[in-house]
Amino acid sequence: MQYYSTNKKACDVSLQEAVVKGLAPDRGLYMPERIAQLPTHFFEQIGDSSLQDISKTVAEAFFGEDIPKDELDAIVNGTLSFEIPLKKVEEDIYVLELFHGPTFAFKDVGARFMARMLSHFVMERQQTVNVLVATSGDTGSAVANGFLGVEGIRVFVLYPSGKVSDIQEAQFNTLGQNIVALEVDGTFDDCQALVKSAFMDDELNNRIKLTSANSINVARFLPQSFYYFWAYAQLIGRGEFAKRVVSVPSGNLGNLTAGLFAKRMGLPIDRFIAANNRNDVFREYLQTGQYRPRASVQTIANAMDVGAPSNFDRILDLYSHSHKAITHDVSSYRYSDEEIKAAIKNVYRESGYLLDPHGASAYLALKEGKKPDETGIFLATAHPAKFKESVEACVGIPIEIPDGLAAFMQHKKQSIALPNDFNLFKKELIGRS
Ligand SMILES: *Cc1c(COP(=O)(O)O)cnc(C)c1O
Repeated sequence: MQYYSTNKKACDVSLQEAVVKGLAPDRGLYMPERIAQLPTHFFEQIGDSSLQDISKTVAEAFFGEDIPKDELDAIVNGTLSFEIPLKKVEEDIYVLELFHGPTFAFKDVGARFMARMLSHFVMERQQTVNVLVATSGDTGSAVANGFLGVEGIRVFVLYPSGKVSDIQEAQFNTLGQNIVALEVDGTFDDCQALVKSAFMDDELNNRIKLTSANSINVARFLPQSFYYFWAYAQLIGRGEFAKRVVSVPSGNLGNLTAGLFAKRMGLPIDRFIAANNRNDVFREYLQTGQYRPRASVQTIANAMDVGAPSNFDRILDLYSHSHKAITHDVSSYRYSDEEIKAAIKNVYRESGYLLDPHGASAYLALKEGKKPDETGIFLATAHPAKFKESVEACVGIPIEIPDGLAAFMQHKKQSIALPNDFNLFKKELIGRS
């Protein structure tokens, strides 16, 4: 399968090149040239199928021409070695818990899949590949842990100093081995800009091999479509047959875009809701047709603090730039920190269910946007214990930290301070390669 750039000014490339390059040379994002419609019998049997089997079918539709079936199956099995349960929170409202992976956040799915796919391709090459990742929190931990100890790969994690929670930080700046954590004196958008500049720097790219693991990479964002099928399967398994709407806590829009791909493959989800915090560039686009990227502001749901969502161009491309077509499938709402905190408190009081701030925004958007004849699913993208202080302040009880998460806090910080300066960043990259 070939991959084209959303900017249409670069050549089409193979899967291997799209995965290793990350971003296209014209700064566009790679898109698969075809999106296969899955057959009727797949949907007829889906209620009895496992997460792994469903995911293998979806993975084959995208990657089957380029990776032998047994290897692709192994990549899927290696990725999805944890549960993704669907739970009923209240009447007509379900939560899909995406946070049972090693770093307790949904990005584990994409990061683990990408690590395995990249390692499959790197084995065919001789040179070490340097993975660059800018993070506002959870990407860094998911990528660092997904790639930890993988041969032939070095990971540089850039994160905004003082803007990431202690638990998030400990998950990528204590690892050592092939993981280098760079603590940038700036915002998440500055980190993202440094990474983008690195990919555009000819001298640097001639000296070392760079790739990205942000949600722009096709190997990271496409696998996120798997669990939309799994959510549907679990609803069918429970005999829920009403129309379906899915609410997605959105930042860079990778998760939402993967859901829209699933819909394009024939998954019967009627529509999507994108939940925004105060960083509501996407909501504004849906309402006005104007896209005005801007600096991000800090909120309690910090993994959604994105002012220029990188996957926006993929959504435009998927819908042939039709604002009307996009708003037919997607609506959006935005919430302040106070509204998110109140939701965490109220849902806990009324149903005993503990939300994290990201999931809480998706819950609120679902409550606001769901029609009476629809079954709603919202995605819970992080374990509430990852945001222990904020969540405890809302519910007034101590939150237990799962063992796997507490273990990260025991280790020593090993990050390197970096001013927001591209030349210094370049020196670090060359010096450590
Ligand atoms: C990354 C992240 C998001 C936003 O996902 P996008 O794919 O960037 O839109 C939401 N919640 C959590 C916990 C995250 O880590």
